[in-house]
Amino acid sequence: MDGVALRSVDGEAPRRNIGTLYAGDDPAGLRVDAGACVRIMTGAALPEGADAVVPVERLRAEGGLIHLEVLPKPGDHVRRQASQARSGDLLLPPGTPLNAARIGLLAQVGDPMPALERIVVAVASTGDELTAEPRPHQIRDSNGPMLTALAHRLGAEARRLPSLPDDPAALAARLRDLDGIRVLLTSGGVSMGQKDHLPAVLQDLGARILFHKLRLKPGKPMLVALLPHPGGDRVILGLPGNPLSAYLNARLFLPVVLARLEGTAEPDPWRHGELGEGVRNPGDRPLLQPCLRDGQRLLPLASQGSGDLAKLAQADACAWIPEGGADAGPCRYLDLP
Ligand code: AMP
Ligand code: MG
Repeated sequence: MDGVALRSVDGEAPRRNIGTLYAGDDPAGLRVDAGACVRIMTGAALPEGADAVVPVERLRAEGGLIHLEVLPKPGDHVRRQASQARSGDLLLPPGTPLNAARIGLLAQVGDPMPALERIVVAVASTGDELTAEPRPHQIRDSNGPMLTALAHRLGAEARRLPSLPDDPAALAARLRDLDGIRVLLTSGGVSMGQKDHLPAVLQDLGARILFHKLRLKPGKPMLVALLPHPGGDRVILGLPGNPLSAYLNARLFLPVVLARLEGTAEPDPWRHGELGEGVRNPGDRPLLQPCLRDGQRLLPLASQGSGDLAKLAQADACAWIPEGGADAGPCRYLDLP
């Protein structure tokens, strides 16, 4: 506290000021004897002899002396060394995920600051139908900008790569060129079509497929693989091409991948709300249902399926609807960063 440092044994008696200590000042050379005090600022070290600080709000200067409005007790407003922890104490067990406070603690005890680089996440769409100036049989690449923005919003260093034709050689070339990239988000080409080459190309390159196919609607064709690279395995999120699937699967998995790579705590993406009306789900997979959100209340938006980006763009949230459907009432949902 800003105030005066003094000896508590002198009680309420007025004190003579013998000096001032600012934060960072060396207190050596100042000694507080009976009846004396030292003006002291928050963060300054306590001078020899003093055992308490009285805050400036409880002081009055009068007749060349400093009068106290409180009776000081030993240790008042003094932070003692080793009050947080003692030398040799375990502060963070090995493997503790780092957060900002823990990084601050490491700095406090003199550990070097861990690297804070953002994970580089690259985004590459696949599909011969993608073009900037589409003719009626073609479409624009909406997934590329959408996934790049999502990766950025999730805290990655996001890089959008040129989109790729449905060609195994082009895919293989891109997958061999991942210097400086930790995570690659692809969209399209992981399903059952004759030009869905990504799974086979990954196999050929020696990737370890962690899973291919997800019991979730939208998102059935989703694939996650680890691709060996001299700089460490690259994480490949092979997202489905349909925009809702691509977005929602990346929304679910990318935060987990980023947390694991950063060594931070794995986020729980689920929030709790109230479904405003029942939703049918006759399929055999849980459904992510785009909804409007008003506080905790979620109102389902009738959607045209996993290509209906117009509907997803209106939505504030996606509710989790288990197989068989859900009645109005408590539900969990994802927000849509
Ligand atoms: P695919 O998974 O490659 O079979 O693609 C599934 C559907 O998503 C198809 O209708 C594609 O045209 C569409 N699609 C694929 N990639 C994109 C993209 N980057 N942007 C918009 N739609 C896409
Ligand atoms: Mg495709």
